[in-house]
Amino acid sequence: MHPCRTSVLTIAGSDSGGGAGIQADLKTIAAHGLHGLSAIAALTAQHTRGVTAVQVPDVGFLRAQIDACFEDFAVAAVKLGMLANATVIHAVADALERHAPKQVVLDPVMVASSGARLLEPEALDALRQRLLPRATLITPNIPEAELLLGRVIDDASADAALQALRDLGVAGVLLKGGHLDGTPQMIDRLHDGEIVHRFEHPRLEVEGHGTGCTLASAIASRLALGDPLPDACRAAADYVHGALVSAYRPGKGSVAVLDHF
Ligand code: PLP
Repeated sequence: MHPCRTSVLTIAGSDSGGGAGIQADLKTIAAHGLHGLSAIAALTAQHTRGVTAVQVPDVGFLRAQIDACFEDFAVAAVKLGMLANATVIHAVADALERHAPKQVVLDPVMVASSGARLLEPEALDALRQRLLPRATLITPNIPEAELLLGRVIDDASADAALQALRDLGVAGVLLKGGHLDGTPQMIDRLHDGEIVHRFEHPRLEVEGHGTGCTLASAIASRLALGDPLPDACRAAADYVHGALVSAYRPGKGSVAVLDHF
């Protein structure tokens, strides 16, 4: 028996299809040899063709889940995913203030690749004001970064967008390049608070589901293991690339689920 295993907490949405959200997070955390804890902030009914229903649990119950985790486990890192609305965001921000975890990786989930809204548009201000200042790192994709900045981003303006995101008052920013399809290489840009790093991978012709969730929880896992931020991001980007190479299609839709080996 191992006497102790470091814990990582994911506060996110559940995906009944097992490809994204809490399910992807727990598989990723386990693949890093860590103990996964979860506080379910939203429930989605979904499969490989889209989201069919969403339900948001009572915030008192969300608070109880988060407090139960912090009362008993040494939480080395927190990953935040789908938070659904402003009420949930305020409850999560309050909990982060109460428990002050050292590492917080925020995946600002807004819209699923299928087009389903996973965050109410009115909640964007709460996310900006309450969560960005508490995050060690945010991991927006291009559409999320465009909503956060209120402007369009292309290949030429991605470096300036990275700096503008950092100027929103967040410690670190990983701007994911997956949606910039002008180049054969996919470039993720990290501003670690001091310098900019670029992580490049060949673009894969696969419609991966849950890549953002997997990346953010892999970064949280690497931070929990003690990696410095740039190393954690590089290792996590490599992990997602490998998981995409061996992705599989478990349902009737064209969407593939990552292999979290
Ligand atoms: N469902 C949940 C619960 C999620 O958290 C997310 C993304 O973070 C998605 C679905 C969408 O995943 P994707 O856009 O990779 O298909």
